[in-house]
Amino acid sequence: MTRRVASAFLVVALVAAWYLTLPPASASLPVTGGDIPARGVIHVHTRRSDGTGTVDDIAAAAARAGLSFVVLTDHGDGTREPESPAYRSGVLCIDAVEISTNGGHLVALGLGKAPYPLGGEPRDVVDDVTRLGGMSVPGHPGSNKPELRWNDWAIPFDGLEWLNGDSEWRDESAATLARVLLAYPARGAEALAMVLDRPDEILRRWDALTRQRRVVAIAGSDAHARLGLRTLGEPYDRSAAFPLPGYGEVFRTFSISLPQLKLTGNAVSDAAAVLAEIRAGRVYSTIDALARPAQLSFTASSADVHLTMGEEHHARGPVTIHAATNAPGGVELRLLKDGAVTATIRDVTLEQTVPPDPAVYRVEVMLPGAPGQPAVPWIVSNPIYLRAPGPIRDPSLRPAPTRVAVQYGNGSAAGWRIEKSERSSAALDVIGAVGGTQLLMRYAISGAMTDAPFVAFVMPPGQELPDNDRLIFNARADHPMRLSVQLRAAQGAALERWQRSVYVDQTPRTIAVFFDDMHPVATTSSQQPPLDRIESVLLVVDTVNTKPGTSGQMWIDDVKYAR
Ligand SMILES: [Zn+2]
Ligand SMILES: [Zn+2]
Repeated sequence: MTRRVASAFLVVALVAAWYLTLPPASASLPVTGGDIPARGVIHVHTRRSDGTGTVDDIAAAAARAGLSFVVLTDHGDGTREPESPAYRSGVLCIDAVEISTNGGHLVALGLGKAPYPLGGEPRDVVDDVTRLGGMSVPGHPGSNKPELRWNDWAIPFDGLEWLNGDSEWRDESAATLARVLLAYPARGAEALAMVLDRPDEILRRWDALTRQRRVVAIAGSDAHARLGLRTLGEPYDRSAAFPLPGYGEVFRTFSISLPQLKLTGNAVSDAAAVLAEIRAGRVYSTIDALARPAQLSFTASSADVHLTMGEEHHARGPVTIHAATNAPGGVELRLLKDGAVTATIRDVTLEQTVPPDPAVYRVEVMLPGAPGQPAVPWIVSNPIYLRAPGPIRDPSLRPAPTRVAVQYGNGSAAGWRIEKSERSSAALDVIGAVGGTQLLMRYAISGAMTDAPFVAFVMPPGQELPDNDRLIFNARADHPMRLSVQLRAAQGAALERWQRSVYVDQTPRTIAVFFDDMHPVATTSSQQPPLDRIESVLLVVDTVNTKPGTSGQMWIDDVKYAR
């Protein structure tokens, strides 16, 4: 045998061995009754932030993947005017934004142009997105990277990413990633699906939340088409990167289906309809790299109500839950009640009659041979919520105060002063108001970030602070803004601060800031402010929510402590 023949044999053997390690190609499924649901992907980065594709590139890739819509979520602070929805390559392109908070990333859908930069604490960004009419969805909430993880699960966000394409590869071994790279050129989407797992922790958190309130779960692609070279795989590495994995391959890996969506061809009304379906929870996620197109119907009916996915109701009599899919053989349908599997059936339909007691039901469909430890579900539905009769109580409401101690009512602003960065300017004046005086605070924060721009209006703490649990004041501003209310204490030679950011606009309103609701600014020696050692109360305007180089004014009155 010549050397040439031997090498040829070796090449053939290697190719055969490589071929045998490839993940199976996605199964093509028959469509059983009804239309194929409109499918799309959410959480896609373009060249406007850290993606490598233009909107047109992305739309073309989505069209080739058989998608009806893509939701673009470039990084931003909400102050960029979103592009109008448009059909490109026959795919509806909807513009949205991914906002970095100091406790994780928030995907905000259906948001217009924000009047000031959105940022800071997750609770403030969710509050702003809600006020602006948007839907807030924590992105990659369970990321392996601590700075990308979502850290506040107690606030009323509307949805969450139960699966995130950028999180999933981060917990894989080098051996698995090597297999993905080897398989990628032949079967891109199937290769990418090799890193998927069932994210137990996030699903557990979701199931805990839905017992209290509706929360929509969706799979977020987090497509960048960028692999950083210097920081090993970091899509945020802007210096040198591969345009991998490609948008098309990511779009074929998994998607979301909106079974009740009817597209008309009018981009504006269709975009509103897509967002309305997602908001309503009439959405399920499918791992298309395993089998496609996936269909799921999931309903609950009793004598008096008929519920579909996402709906919340009180039923009076027994409820029949029905789930059906077009799955291939060997499928396993799991019905979950309050997060625990309550029925498993190896069939394509499941029917179960349950009492009308409060419970949250959802479906996971498992395919044999699915990747992951534990295996990733092929389909994840949104829940149907059976609730107790009567209104749902809001636990965040606090009792009205029974005692107050006035700090500023009328007259001079004794003891008040201004602190500011060198190149910012500010003025504090006492001006007339109905029945007395009020404080006029004017600020112009510097445009030079090297100045660390800020302005703070500083009030002496007074004697009564430690005996109270909140600060109350009336406020109005010349334009919508956020004001950071802070308590400051000396800790050795250093000063430590705790803050609660509040929204202020042209409408006068009474604002209450509870001291136990304040969060540390940077690192502090205690989680809560030490009320007996507070040296100043500050009303701060800084670049967290104010554009450098801008100015404005606020009117503050009736400042008091209360309990
Ligand atoms: Zn992100
Ligand atoms: Zn992202």
